[in-house]
Amino acid sequence: MAVKKNEEIRIKIESISSQGSGVGHFDSQAIFVANTAVGDDIVAHIIKAKQNYAVGIISKIIKPSKDRIPVDCEAFSRCGGCAYRHISYKSELEGKYQRVKDALNRIGHIDITPNEIIGADECNRYRNKAQYPIGLSPKGDLVIGFYSPHSHRICDCTDCLLQPEEFRDIIGCIKKWILTTECTVYNEKNGRGLLRHIYLRRASVTGEIMVCLVINGKSVPNGTKLVSSLISENHNIKSVVLNVNQKDTNVVLGDECINLYGDGYITDVLCSKKIRISPLSFYQVNHDQAEKLYGKAREYAQLNKDDVLLDLYCGAGTIGLSMVDDVKELIGVEVIPEAIEDAKFNAELNGVTNARFICDDAKGAAKKLFDEGITPDVVIIDPPRKGCDIQVLETIAQMAPERVVYVSCDPATLARDCERFAQMGYEVKEVTPVDLFPRTTHVECVAKLVRKQV
Ligand code: SAH
Repeated sequence: MAVKKNEEIRIKIESISSQGSGVGHFDSQAIFVANTAVGDDIVAHIIKAKQNYAVGIISKIIKPSKDRIPVDCEAFSRCGGCAYRHISYKSELEGKYQRVKDALNRIGHIDITPNEIIGADECNRYRNKAQYPIGLSPKGDLVIGFYSPHSHRICDCTDCLLQPEEFRDIIGCIKKWILTTECTVYNEKNGRGLLRHIYLRRASVTGEIMVCLVINGKSVPNGTKLVSSLISENHNIKSVVLNVNQKDTNVVLGDECINLYGDGYITDVLCSKKIRISPLSFYQVNHDQAEKLYGKAREYAQLNKDDVLLDLYCGAGTIGLSMVDDVKELIGVEVIPEAIEDAKFNAELNGVTNARFICDDAKGAAKKLFDEGITPDVVIIDPPRKGCDIQVLETIAQMAPERVVYVSCDPATLARDCERFAQMGYEVKEVTPVDLFPRTTHVECVAKLVRKQV
């Protein structure tokens, strides 16, 4: 019989869902309970009851799982960031591995055992980018932190354990400036107020930092004072930027950036290549794990000196540039103009003369390249979470590269696209999950697809 709302039931947690909740069963009904661990024996209080599943919260832990560890962050489960601070990293990796395997087998119907997941050496302070919403508490106090899960309530948190320690002090400095200057805070309900987000980026190798204020306007009062206190607070700050976002939207960044200090970008080193990062370009948030991911992608690409390599969804060109010395020609495609500018600049910065970058939608660009007679030997794709449009896969199949290397941040869409590729003559040979986001629900994968011989 299906459970009812407010009922208390005893269950054992058997697995972890893709959203990070523990899953157990009552009769045959799946029950999702957040902040649990595989092996927990609990009493759950049901807060939502549907026909074929229910959601509960922990009412009592009867016997804790052996995977549990003490939680070391005060904001855990309130800030919407980490999902796994309460379990060992080993069990987190096991859960992520299983999720990738299940997606490939069940969604993609691909009979494959993924390789061992590549875990991180460092689970804290690994991020190089943070976006902190700014708001007012119900009492009218300034709050800076992260959105609570499934809400737009800001959880006050300025020292996130996933972020560099330097970010905490920079936030402190900006907070002081907000409080001493005539600066209003954005109100999502009426669209009034100036400050929306603080957006920070740090280049892991060079240490350079970019501070960006996202504002509902074109300027800030006492900008010079802000800049001088920031650069005296932290000498690694190389760039202070305003990003203009005057739209009623959940998208954090607007299209326009105004420099207050520096050139508007910072420079990092990734896979031995210097990489310029500007505010609007995508850049991998975990530098060390990204190098492992790219290393695996390079291994799967098996490039030769006379190969043409197509890097679709190339961002600032980083994956392609990490392999450009292995090939005759690299072609990168990316839809964000600033990222393409960065990619071109990055090629030049590294003395690369055999790369070109095209600013276009992957679908249109792939078609145009094919129509021009370009038939790459290897194609790398690294789409956003929603995966690739089917037309992109079709055009790649028409181009008939020997290998496709698929870098994915969502195992479900990877599985769907691999199944589609399989129908177009490509076989999934290997998949390696890589943990780019320890303590969160996210998991990255790299897959090697090979053209079947006809
Ligand atoms: N390969 C890069 C970026 C990966 S993130 C890296 O490793 O850093 C995915 C990228 O795809 C983003 O830069 C995003 O702007 C871009 N993108 C999203 N939709 C796209 C589309 N339809 N066509 C081309 N690029 C797209």
